[in-house]
Amino acid sequence: MATLGFLGAARTVTGSQYLLEAGTSQVLVDSGMFQGEKELRLRNWEPPRFQPSKVQAIVLTHTHLDHIGRVPRLVKLGFRGTIYCTPPTLELAEILLKDAAHLQEEDAEYLNRKGLSKHKPALPLFDNADVEAAMKLFEAVPLGEEREAAPGIRFRYREAGHLLGAASADVTVQDGARTLRIVFSGDVGRYDAVLAKDPAPAPEADYVVVESTYGNRAHAEVSVLDQLEGVLKRTFARGGVLLVPAFAVGRAQQMIYLFDQLVTEGRVRPFPVHLDSPMAVDATRIYARHPEAHNVNLNGIGGRSLLYGKWVFHHRTKDESMKLNELKGPAVILSSSGMLAGGRILHHCRVRLPQPENTLLITGYQAATTLGRALLDGRRVVRIHKGDVPVLAEIANLKGLSGHADAGELMRWLSELKSPKAVFLTHGEEDAAFALASRISGQRGFPTRVPKMDERVEL
Ligand SMILES: [Zn+2]
Repeated sequence: MATLGFLGAARTVTGSQYLLEAGTSQVLVDSGMFQGEKELRLRNWEPPRFQPSKVQAIVLTHTHLDHIGRVPRLVKLGFRGTIYCTPPTLELAEILLKDAAHLQEEDAEYLNRKGLSKHKPALPLFDNADVEAAMKLFEAVPLGEEREAAPGIRFRYREAGHLLGAASADVTVQDGARTLRIVFSGDVGRYDAVLAKDPAPAPEADYVVVESTYGNRAHAEVSVLDQLEGVLKRTFARGGVLLVPAFAVGRAQQMIYLFDQLVTEGRVRPFPVHLDSPMAVDATRIYARHPEAHNVNLNGIGGRSLLYGKWVFHHRTKDESMKLNELKGPAVILSSSGMLAGGRILHHCRVRLPQPENTLLITGYQAATTLGRALLDGRRVVRIHKGDVPVLAEIANLKGLSGHADAGELMRWLSELKSPKAVFLTHGEEDAAFALASRISGQRGFPTRVPKMDERVEL
């Protein structure tokens, strides 16, 4: 008998983790961190509902923390199997997990120093040593190649779009005389996205586990380049600097590519782009090293990656970052974090927001209670590093760069599926998951289910 357990991302968008069991074989697909509300985050600390030492493999779909963030914790708790992922994911995972470990250690240290923790002492979920131990278990598998994850459980990756290295996993389970095919979507990207390839549609399968982040929404059709051209021209006409908070992996590289496009098309005169984030600099190197994984050729004249164009400046040190305070427009500063929740972008905001010639350009989702959200809501004075900062700069919002397929695109991803026994909707809030479930059962006639957290189903 084979079973599938939904141990995360069930009726919520974080903590992706699925446990596939057949005979004595146990394989996890993804092991992500729960993020957001405290009630969810506490789940990161709960003992797993399986014995980590008994699990033979973890098959990762991509490197976002809500898909890989619990991996070092599982290694700490005794997991010693193999961790599979695509080659770009392996490289990105190391920088993202090390950064996450660093943040965890900093948070624990802060709570201990301030005496704010109920736990004495407060501990990080995992530390750098746990990440080092986990990285030794990683094994890269290129798209299309089959591997045996555990006796009777084989898998193969296919392109998912979404982010460099992101994949869906086609899993085959030999359950006695039966062969079961289960497809895990991972996060499905958009069609015709910036840099990311189109997702490959789901193949015929017995069961499909599909994300539903935007299961009840349609993305607006907007030209990202037109919007960006407008905001650059306005800012530069004022002699200002465009400040862009961007997630270091993915969004930062997309923005550099879009700036290059506008200049190449002659729509904007060349201007310097300053990438001010050590993690984004590392991630950019990985993006440049995988030309096969993008939907465009990033190598310009002379074979040099556009991400290293002569107008792009990479900054690692604090000194280099401080020097940018004197920078005059026209220029762009790209820095993280993307939701202005910390990092160097806050220093740039303190310097740039009080000047009306500058623009702060938001490029992605801003969670409630973040500084990014407050600025989008039109707050004219914000608190940064314990000081009040007046907001005289323009605040702009670039739409259309979502990394997730909308409901119509998810239907397109499912278009080649013919007669599954069930489609499971995960990785979406309840409204979104149920909306997509009823659309799939209504339009395609497939049996659908929206699993509850920790539910196990027999396959
Ligand atoms: Zn993702």
